Amino acid sequence: KRSGFFNQDDLRFLSLVTDLGAVALENSLLFQKTQDLAIHDDLTALHTKSYFIDRLRDQAKQARRLNQHLALMMIDIDLFKQYNDKFGHIMGDLVLKKMGILLKEALNEFNPLICRFGGEEFLVMFSGIDKQKLLIIAEELRQRIQKKKIMLRRQDTYITVSIGVASLLLDTKDEDDLVQKADRAMYAAKEKGRNQVCCA
Ligand code: GH3
Ligand code: MG
Ligand code: MG
Repeated sequence: KRSGFFNQDDLRFLSLVTDLGAVALENSLLFQKTQDLAIHDDLTALHTKSYFIDRLRDQAKQARRLNQHLALMMIDIDLFKQYNDKFGHIMGDLVLKKMGILLKEALNEFNPLICRFGGEEFLVMFSGIDKQKLLIIAEELRQRIQKKKIMLRRQDTYITVSIGVASLLLDTKDEDDLVQKADRAMYAAKEKGRNQVCCA
């Protein structure tokens, strides 16, 4: 509080300490960002496939040991190539981003793990939810996506999805096979005419 209390030496010392502190802080933030980028898809901010698979292995092990419900939902946007061809790839990217937000909002209450599995495919893991209940959740999600208006170039557009559902223990005991089963169920939904839910 007294004027002239600190001298030039104090200032030099303070400057040295804060410079070092700033570098440490910057490094720490950079490290956090790198870690975050490694487990999150940069377009949709959903989890990456590799992070998802790691978590699936852990959760499947636990589900088998404790005989708990664990189920997957494979979601694929219908005829997305046509969408890109009509509106352009940048607009397509915007739709994928919006899908990420919609999935998080719509499924939030079930505390799922959501990843971008491939280009326009999303894989979701649900713990403690049985297959019957998951089929209802999937059907509600399908309807919600169908109704969601997406504004592109001042045009109202809509997308639909095909969803495959598979449950661990009930459909298979192996987690890799579980992903395959959810994928095959999703393809069955495509074959039946798209915009629907099928189960393994
Ligand atoms: P289906 O109903 O059978 O799934 O038809 P589809 O056109 O969605 O399927 P297909 O697998 O033939 O094509 C997927 C398309 O998704 C191809 C590509 O144009 C688009 N796509 C994949 N990744 C991205 C991406 O990151 N951004 C954009 N904009 N489009 C992508
Ligand atoms: Mg696809
Ligand atoms: Mg598709």
